[in-house]
Amino acid sequence: MKKTNTHEHSQNQLPLPHMYHPSHDLSGIHWITVEQAFEMVLSHAKVLESEVKPIDSALGQTLAEDLLSPINIPPMANTAMDGYAVRWADVAGASAKSHKHLKVSGLLVAGGRPDKRVLPGESIRIMTGAPIPPGADTIIPFEDTDEESRKVNEKQIKEISILKVFAKGACVRPAGEDITAGQKVLSKGTVLSAADIGVLASVGKSSVRVVRRPSVAIISTGDELVEPGTKLGVSQIYNSNSHAIAAAVRLAGGEPVILGIARDNAASLNQKVDQALKHDMLLTSAGVSHGDYDIVQDTLNKRGKVDLYSVRMRPAKPMALGVLKRAGKAIGLLHLGLPGNPVSSLVAFEQFGRPALLKMQGKQPSARPTVEAILDNDITNHDKRRVFARVTVYKKNGQYRAKLTGSQGSNLLTSVARANGLAVCPEDVSVLKAGQIATVQMISWNEEVF
Ligand code: AMP
Ligand code: MG
Repeated sequence: MKKTNTHEHSQNQLPLPHMYHPSHDLSGIHWITVEQAFEMVLSHAKVLESEVKPIDSALGQTLAEDLLSPINIPPMANTAMDGYAVRWADVAGASAKSHKHLKVSGLLVAGGRPDKRVLPGESIRIMTGAPIPPGADTIIPFEDTDEESRKVNEKQIKEISILKVFAKGACVRPAGEDITAGQKVLSKGTVLSAADIGVLASVGKSSVRVVRRPSVAIISTGDELVEPGTKLGVSQIYNSNSHAIAAAVRLAGGEPVILGIARDNAASLNQKVDQALKHDMLLTSAGVSHGDYDIVQDTLNKRGKVDLYSVRMRPAKPMALGVLKRAGKAIGLLHLGLPGNPVSSLVAFEQFGRPALLKMQGKQPSARPTVEAILDNDITNHDKRRVFARVTVYKKNGQYRAKLTGSQGSNLLTSVARANGLAVCPEDVSVLKAGQIATVQMISWNEEVF
């Protein structure tokens, strides 16, 4: 990702309110802003404890302690080139017109032991990565010697002529050039990259202490749902939310555990929730509107404290949030109740669930990078909510443009599948016209497009 682009900046730079003040409408629903919802969800998410893992399983996890190198890297001075290890005093001033002649007293390969000293007037033939033998201080690459012409006539090269020199120490990689013993090489809080894993290995670490990944239980609710792979009956639909959310959880660094479908009754939901208690977070989908069968908040509030909110956003207005009690554990289970409509469910996870999971992993809970893009279509906002419009962002004439992926119904899952961004129309703007600039949260970044 091109982080240097000036049009990009990270979201959530605005200071968040310290308190939330839900306003109530006539039905008693708590209306809250997107920022309030974000802050509430985040306030429930706590950084998880650390664990020691093999380095090959730690990619993307957060380092839980500073890493000091026990050794120098490289551990010993070695040669950066194939060539001849020489004493500078013997070769200084060598040129095409004034060759220096040396005896070749041995051969040293990478991994070889530097047992033999280079004496005055001598050299050792040496391969990249081999240790610098005692006595030598400079490497002369093959191409700066007459080795090629000698190879034609001599079976074993016993003498070599130096045709060119740079400086004392040339082509020598000193011990500790990259890392010195005792140096801090990776700081606590680093999210381990491929190169970081390499650094760990290079200093000899086979395991590393990192913040544990959150384990996330996922329950879909609904009498109409069946699992993909089975036959669809009358009035049934496939459960797509569990699977989309599980995938999104994995991308956010969590370990999803799909617990299946709970029916729209308390007994069925309770039975599923019993299985969720050992995890770090519970995500439910659906049943958080205000219909007769929206039983999630009612049921779960009896197992702790779970409230229902209306977030000033479109899609993904309804949200349940709370903490469930669990026997024997001081910390309750964080429950985020996502809306049922597939688009809403993913957008709510993106805005609130993902940041919470990042925080639990000791990462910055900031949302995606954003770009400022010229709109190809109008985005309308008729009821003062924040609109997250599904768009495809692309670059044209050096500028980002955003095109709606189609109809914006919250049931139209392909509108998210085709999108790489969510264009934001603020609450107080009734329409963003085509040609105007919108801030777009990049939910994925296709390098080929940019
Ligand atoms: P609800 O929040 O229960 O009123 O559900 C809102 C809409 O989302 C309804 O049309 C549901 O059929 C649909 N829905 C609920 N759960 C899922 C799911 N797991 N997968 C796909 N669609 C769902
Ligand atoms: Mg339902």
